[in-house]
Amino acid sequence: MSHLSPVLKQATPVVATHGEGVYLYDDAGRHHLDFTAGIGVTSTGHCHPRVVEAAQAQVGSLIHGQYTTIMHKPLLALSDKLTELLPEGLDSLFFSNSGSEAAEAALRLARQATGRPNIVVFQGGFHGRTVAAASLTTSGTKFKAGFSPLMSGVAVSPFPNPAHYRAYGFDEEQATDFALRELDLVLQTQSHPADTAAFLVEPVLGEGGYIPGNRRFFEGLRKKADEHGILVIVDEVQTGFGRTGEFWGQDHFGLTPDIQMFAKGIASGFPISGIAASEELMAKAWPGSQGGTYGANAVACAAALATLEVIEEEQLVANSAARGVQLKAGLEKIGEKHAEVQAVHGLGLMVSVEFTDAEGEPDGAAAAAVHRAAAENGLLLLTNGMYGHHVRFIPALVVTEGQIDDALALWEKTL
Ligand code: PLP
Repeated sequence: MSHLSPVLKQATPVVATHGEGVYLYDDAGRHHLDFTAGIGVTSTGHCHPRVVEAAQAQVGSLIHGQYTTIMHKPLLALSDKLTELLPEGLDSLFFSNSGSEAAEAALRLARQATGRPNIVVFQGGFHGRTVAAASLTTSGTKFKAGFSPLMSGVAVSPFPNPAHYRAYGFDEEQATDFALRELDLVLQTQSHPADTAAFLVEPVLGEGGYIPGNRRFFEGLRKKADEHGILVIVDEVQTGFGRTGEFWGQDHFGLTPDIQMFAKGIASGFPISGIAASEELMAKAWPGSQGGTYGANAVACAAALATLEVIEEEQLVANSAARGVQLKAGLEKIGEKHAEVQAVHGLGLMVSVEFTDAEGEPDGAAAAAVHRAAAENGLLLLTNGMYGHHVRFIPALVVTEGQIDDALALWEKTL
């Protein structure tokens, strides 16, 4: 512990020895209801037997095969499976290891394919921590403070976030009108369409507090992009693979990207990420610019394939939708008794509770205190939101009705 950097010591003081489903067990003999899922990664739960078996079998036959040197079977099988699940036409895949690298790959491709320098991002978006990904991130200055200069060529437009515009009395419709008008203005005043390579957006703000977008906003965004030959990059890193109760977060809104990013829930904890695009678009990546030593690791690919099979066979997308409704309704009901709970947000099994003070201002301290107290009661959660004032629930997609009830009881006790 003493050898860890200070940022790693801030984690909940649980030294996990093993995990099973939605439970983590620690070295003090306690068990914890894990509603963090490694930040939305262990989609099939901790150590799902099918995923363990697939990974163990793969370790015994081939661990690593560098993918610009040789191909391997798990990579080919995973690519075939993913293209069945991706929107029609997004049939060319590039793989990397983290969400940030997927953001970098999407950025490089968009700039190279269009020959244009700028990316328009949406307020409250999170796309990672590498310098380029942090430059595209607007869910908190803490993600980019102190290491400027960041990448240039980023313009920021509003996301239709009614919680953020509550102070102006905006409802979702008005927040959407505002966001669409501002997008026009951004193209008029900050980033000329001829200089704009792409719009980069999350279907549901993740680190921004589990705030879903809406169909009218995404239709307007897509239309504006098509008018000007601007690409749409959808960041499905957190929302993909059933997390929101549809297979892709964008499916709720009829949004089809030109470039789609994915990571997190694809492989139940093995590091693998990537982007998908049409073959025509992907061919515009300059030779040598997309690659990496570890991308599409053979064990990660085998684990991803098993994860996708489990998601399908155990109908985890439908479970995510049903358990998400149960969780949100339960949190709303409990929230009614607590003035500091301003609202409950989210879609599927991405649900957050927003904390405000007596003046209705974001209350990060309250969220942090509740987060700590919940952990002491055996319920592991996340915080975030633009002011750190959301407590987030993101359990594995295998979570049962009874386990949601248990989490709600612990939450009520904690508040
Ligand atoms: N994009 C989204 C939507 C995310 O939620 C995250 C991480 O939380 C990232 C990108 C960055 O992923 P990573 O931490 O794997 O680099």
